[in-house]
Amino acid sequence: MSESTVEKHAFQAEIQQLLDLVVHSLYTDKEIFLRELISNASDSMEKLRHIESTEKDIHQAGAELEIRITTDEEAGTITIEDRGIGMSHDELVENLGTIAHSGTKAFLKAMKESGGSPANMIGQFGVGFYSAFMVADKVSVTSHSWRVGTGGNTWTSDGTSGYEIEPAENADRGAKLTLHLKEDCKDFAKEYTVKGLIERYSNFVGFPIFLNGTRVNEVEALWLKNKSEVTDEQYKAFYQFACKAFDEPAYRLHFSADAPLAINALVFAPSENPERMGFGKVDGGIALYSRKVMIDPSPKDMLPEWMRFMKGVVDSADIPLNISRESMQDSALVRKIGTVISKRVIKMFEKEAEGDPEKYRGFYQKFDRFFKEGVVTDYANREQLAKLLRYESSLTDPGSVCGLTDYVSRMKDGQEEIYYLAGAGREQIESSPYLEAFKARGLEVIYFFDAADEYVADSLAEFDGKKLVSVRHGGVDLADQDVDGDALGEEETKELCEFLKTELGDKVTSVAPGKRLVDSPVIALVPTDGLSPQMRQMMKAMDENFKDEVKVELEINPRHPLVKKLAESSKANPDVAKLVSQQLLDNALISAGLLDDARETVRRMNELMQKAMG
Ligand code: ADP
Repeated sequence: MSESTVEKHAFQAEIQQLLDLVVHSLYTDKEIFLRELISNASDSMEKLRHIESTEKDIHQAGAELEIRITTDEEAGTITIEDRGIGMSHDELVENLGTIAHSGTKAFLKAMKESGGSPANMIGQFGVGFYSAFMVADKVSVTSHSWRVGTGGNTWTSDGTSGYEIEPAENADRGAKLTLHLKEDCKDFAKEYTVKGLIERYSNFVGFPIFLNGTRVNEVEALWLKNKSEVTDEQYKAFYQFACKAFDEPAYRLHFSADAPLAINALVFAPSENPERMGFGKVDGGIALYSRKVMIDPSPKDMLPEWMRFMKGVVDSADIPLNISRESMQDSALVRKIGTVISKRVIKMFEKEAEGDPEKYRGFYQKFDRFFKEGVVTDYANREQLAKLLRYESSLTDPGSVCGLTDYVSRMKDGQEEIYYLAGAGREQIESSPYLEAFKARGLEVIYFFDAADEYVADSLAEFDGKKLVSVRHGGVDLADQDVDGDALGEEETKELCEFLKTELGDKVTSVAPGKRLVDSPVIALVPTDGLSPQMRQMMKAMDENFKDEVKVELEINPRHPLVKKLAESSKANPDVAKLVSQQLLDNALISAGLLDDARETVRRMNELMQKAMG
């Protein structure tokens, strides 16, 4: 090409300013240049698709819409080529030499306003095309517009003094960018490095990407498709490849919304829980995209923490491509998207659980901790999440479960509270004296087997307007119940209670007759503000010196033969009656899982046996 056809141009002052920053910035995430350029290429081909639908005359009309990337280690270059709308001579000047477009404008505006560190600002904006100068000291763009007969041109610049434009013969439609990499950026001329970057940032770009002739992005943007166009197989392949999963997805949610936000989402619940398999806390698995370009693989504040086990993609055209990770964290827009997604996900679980309770039971067994965590931490979704909890209860068959909604629908007339009892397992709970009164009245009691359940119940406090109450606690108001058999008279009962209170002293807050007991002589009730046995165990496990004075309400059963006998003995044989009183309390504490030191209990038991045998 002769000298005369080369035009020299100076950059517009603002572009010059921008370039100075880009070139001299110490910004470390230089690799984002590739994402920016691929995204420009993809945008340009998307525009071409639109033009194809209205225009007949298009330069190289049949050309495949694909992105071709080539690396040349020896020459130290990387080339990115697309078959999009391209740029004419004037468009090259306009688009790459002046600041007519949004992203860069916003960047400069923010930079001016901040008056702060420019390197930091580059991190916050993509700076689009100009990010090429972070890694290259010379960039050339050969382009031919889609318009027939406009001719090709090559735009070249070192990013400092200005740029040159000269005609390019036989230029293909679209743009071909060649980056001559800086000495310390030669890594981007390595196929291996570039492949990793494409897989990371641009895997779901809707056009095929070829790297040195080989297709790299295997997965299409399934989430933008219509549900009816996607097969189960495709969903599974997408889940495993795109979400880097090895299991089958247990559930999936694929939806799109236009208002108030444009969202396309495809998210999965896995079938295996890595946290349960001892891998520690996982990172959030739902990536944020904007028009098929990945913004962040694990956006921090988009979704509530408990949803970290979910995997997939959320794409919102409302998110500007050049939003940065830093500015995303306080982006109301991102949080809004997160709100929509979390509500939908919870609804999805609710529907699936209703449709196939058996399947959900299996899933819940592995993932229950996430839902429980959600109830405790995700205030906005608490009530909805509580519907997803599952428990065995006194009315379910062993191994079967029910939800709180089922429980409420079965509540007896006049029942105002939801009752639960925590224990190590079904048998242990069912042999507990606490259950007697509830069984006798046909009141359902939910069984908590997980150490976290009581904590969750405390935090939830109520469901559907009904308080959650441990049957271990005093203060549960049970309706009167006719009971068979003779009971101690009122006066005798009162006297016995006084006797016990004197004898047991500080160990009990009160002694009173109760309606709860059917088969047991006494029961120890924990004050509502006291620690539950499960909590105490947890505290003890964490701190071996943990001591907690247990004070219980003792409820006695005036119909029980042992109690009746004790009333007699308290007058006729007070010495034995005292020993029996102490022993009865210890027995009640053992049933309650509250006896810490059994030495005294054993000694007393021996004494009692001796006495019994005379
Ligand atoms: P932005 O993409 O945010 O507008 P860029 O600096 O990345 O900013 O690009 C500036 C302009 O250059 C784009 O708006 C577009 O018109 C044009 N452009 C960039 N890359 C291409 C391409 N591969 N094909 C066609 N036009 C492009």
